Amino acid sequence: MARINPRDSFQSLRKTITIIGGGLTGLSLAIALRRREVPVILHEAASYPRHRVCGEFISGVSAETLENLGISGQFSDCLHHTSIAWYSKNELLRRNSLPAPAIAISRYLLDDRLQKLAVALGVELHQKSRQRIDPGKSGVVWSAGRKPARGEWIGLKAHLRGIENHSAEKAHLEMHSGPQGYLGITPVENGWSNVCGLFRLDKTIPGKRESLIPAYLRRNGNTVLASAIEDAEWKPASFNAVAGFQLGLQAPLAGLLSLGDSHAIIPPFTGNGMTMAFQSAEIATPHLISYADSNSTWEETCSSINSALSDHFRKRLTASRMIHPLLFQPFSKWLLRHTPIQPVLALIR
Ligand SMILES: Cc1cc2nc3c(=O)[nH]c(=O)nc-3n(C[C@H](O)[C@H](O)[C@H](O)COP(=O)(O)OP(=O)(O)OC[C@H]3O[C@@H](n4cnc5c(N)ncnc54)[C@H](O)[C@@H]3O)c2cc1C
Repeated sequence: MARINPRDSFQSLRKTITIIGGGLTGLSLAIALRRREVPVILHEAASYPRHRVCGEFISGVSAETLENLGISGQFSDCLHHTSIAWYSKNELLRRNSLPAPAIAISRYLLDDRLQKLAVALGVELHQKSRQRIDPGKSGVVWSAGRKPARGEWIGLKAHLRGIENHSAEKAHLEMHSGPQGYLGITPVENGWSNVCGLFRLDKTIPGKRESLIPAYLRRNGNTVLASAIEDAEWKPASFNAVAGFQLGLQAPLAGLLSLGDSHAIIPPFTGNGMTMAFQSAEIATPHLISYADSNSTWEETCSSINSALSDHFRKRLTASRMIHPLLFQPFSKWLLRHTPIQPVLALIR
């Protein structure tokens, strides 16, 4: 694909949008804006490719959203998953089909594909470029992910091979739960499975880095899986951990337009955070084009985007905030076994 320079000729009549944070929100927004010839500068604190704490299970995103963002072609060779099995401690509780296939792709591959596409379309990308929050600056979108906060959760992830034999039951997504949290396993590309968990942070749990995954699973009662994970092949450098964040709406900063996880974090069991990242970018795109064309002020643009985000996500954020604590109650086993899946999915999508 020919490279387009964002500062070329007629495009300079349009204002530039500066995006801080090149995760799924920032990258998909940058691509959508460049496809409509808006000049875009993107700052990313890290460099690509890199592993991220994420279940890598994209559920509930429509083909139309991916098409609107101009990124649908990036998923054509991905695995599509249709079954899910829930375990509590070492016991299989249920197996379900998903109402629509979910997409599985590692963030290592997906974010790298998207950054290459963004650059090819003319996004001025600055890697290893950590920016400071500068509220009130016009034309700046903050999509830098979770806002640091005192939080009670730890997210752990790694890519593993050879963990299939811990259970006779085969499903595309396995969710292993217990009183401390839950961990999902899903095949991604090249024979690797992504193993990713969210647990209540517990400093009494022994271990460092990779050994934290089996250690948290043991404390959670998922002992069979913990042993299988210890015996599995680990992809070098794929381990990642994250702590110090809160689920739900993130603390707003006056004068700062926040999208994706910077706006709100939906609990990971929904498998919907990446979908919300794409939908945030889709929602924001027409308003940012209007600003770039000087048809609206920055204040008007932020206000329209914030109210559209709130309308679009309110129901699922409220529902997931209420459902999430139930997963850790003594009666959670009964709920996981008997709750009809379709109505719950309808609430959190
Ligand atoms: C344990 C766990 C499991 C999950 N599992 C799933 C799942 O299976 N399915 C799903 O859909 N979602 C899942 N999610 C949620 C999903 O990962 C996020 O919702 C999604 O990554 C949000 O994308 P984002 O672009 O908003 O933020 P991020 O992906 O976090 O991207 C933010 C980017 O900003 C950069 N950055 C940060 N600070 C700065 C700065 N100051 N300057 C410049 N750049 C900066 C970061 O390096 C990063 O690249 C999970 C989350 C967790 C914690």
